[in-house]
Amino acid sequence: MFSHIFSISIDNILLLCVGLPVRRFPIPSEVKQLSRVFRSRGHELYVVGGAVRDYLLGRKPEGDCDLATSARPDEVMAMFPGVIPTGIDHGTVTLVYHKQHYEITTFRTEQDYSDHRRPDSVAFIGSIDEDLSRRDFTINAMAADTETGCITDRFAGMKDLKRRIIRAIGNPADRFREDALRMLRACRFASQLSFTIEEETLNAAREHAGLINHVSGERIREELIRMLASAVPSVGLEYMRKTQLMEHVLPELLEGVDIGQKGMHIGDVYTHSLASCDGAPAENRTVRFAALFHDIGKPRSLGEDELGIPTFYRHEGISAEMAESIMRRLKFPNRERERILHLIRQHMFHYTPDWSDAAVRRFIAKVGTDALEDLFSLRRADHYGTTGSYPLKHDDSFERHIRRVLEADNVLTVSDLAVSGRDVMEELDLKPGKHIGTILNALLETVLDDPGMNTRAQLLTVAREFYASYLDR
Ligand code: ATP
Ligand code: MG
Repeated sequence: MFSHIFSISIDNILLLCVGLPVRRFPIPSEVKQLSRVFRSRGHELYVVGGAVRDYLLGRKPEGDCDLATSARPDEVMAMFPGVIPTGIDHGTVTLVYHKQHYEITTFRTEQDYSDHRRPDSVAFIGSIDEDLSRRDFTINAMAADTETGCITDRFAGMKDLKRRIIRAIGNPADRFREDALRMLRACRFASQLSFTIEEETLNAAREHAGLINHVSGERIREELIRMLASAVPSVGLEYMRKTQLMEHVLPELLEGVDIGQKGMHIGDVYTHSLASCDGAPAENRTVRFAALFHDIGKPRSLGEDELGIPTFYRHEGISAEMAESIMRRLKFPNRERERILHLIRQHMFHYTPDWSDAAVRRFIAKVGTDALEDLFSLRRADHYGTTGSYPLKHDDSFERHIRRVLEADNVLTVSDLAVSGRDVMEELDLKPGKHIGTILNALLETVLDDPGMNTRAQLLTVAREFYASYLDR
């Protein structure tokens, strides 16, 4: 979004602005067009939040463009009949204009937050100034007039941007009592922007960490997702530990603190988890979460061998169980949760060059072709988390072996077999049921071992023999 304007650094901007009466935000032409519609009806329109902040930092904005207006939601809906009433109770509608999403929120104040997560009521107001004072952090409370580009900065957000700090507006304790999610947002912005959290704000978060339990799993998940999309997520995660938010949000991770590991590991299990997460590609959310959770079960599987060296037998299964309960708590969509869990369960493979093609075929069949790339990515992240660096020379012999096997057009799933479930049912005179799947899996095992067996006649013979011995059991 607006990528053409994000080439100026904060230092440049502040230098440019010394002695200048105003600092102007370059309003994109689409927003100017929207602005004209609002103005023609006597309303004001501002760009607010992340877009202004990220422009001043010279960063490409990550979220949708947030707009604030004096027009009431019903007036916005009358101006643009296609808008979606995404948060109408709180005055927010979403407009899709020239393929861009705009969240348009009516200027508002908020009253009483008895449940520590949302206002009991909101009131629509006429001025941007008051609207800015209900926002979370100084760096998020700047607004750019869509007509002139002039930036309103009531809470010295620019100064805090320059000092690279996150500071709550007004009394941080009050702000966190109103909406406890703001504490997690502070950690998220620290990660996203590589900023530090200002001391009073940090102390208030420490004192009020427990209030995060009032916030829904979905809202927490969205902040964690944004934290894990940042360049160095361990910054935000460490802030979560320091403020004790982690004790409430991801207590399982803390079990790894001071659990030492053998060999090349540079830190305890907790440090390794965070470093692995940092080592995963920022744009791959599946691998980032898998890296964070892949060893989370190690403390619960801790044992000792005869030399007194710690062991973590079958920790991948325990890690997957724990990660599953975390992701259920945070209401991850089923598909995403299962993809992450699959990577965690499969992360402990140990390839050696003497693996036969059959062993590689069995590995591919177990992992699935569409998860292979993510699994290797997780393995590299794990290495980074272990040693603090990526391998200088990446040993890709396993990947090459896999590619060779894939190119040979092998049977890797039940659907690649020369017989179908229907063929098996007809041959053995069986009705549909679970046993058909069991027989097909046995046929797949046969063909993984020996691809030459993938003919109709041979497979039906194997099916008959397998079924007879299966019945005998
Ligand atoms: P991003 O670039 O990641 O979208 P953002 O600052 O735009 O960051 P949003 O979550 O999109 O963050 O919120 C938009 C703006 O709304 C924020 O900048 C802030 O001014 C305000 N805001 C959002 N959530 C809260 C909250 N929980 N309490 C107070 N103000 C909030
Ligand atoms: Mg935003």
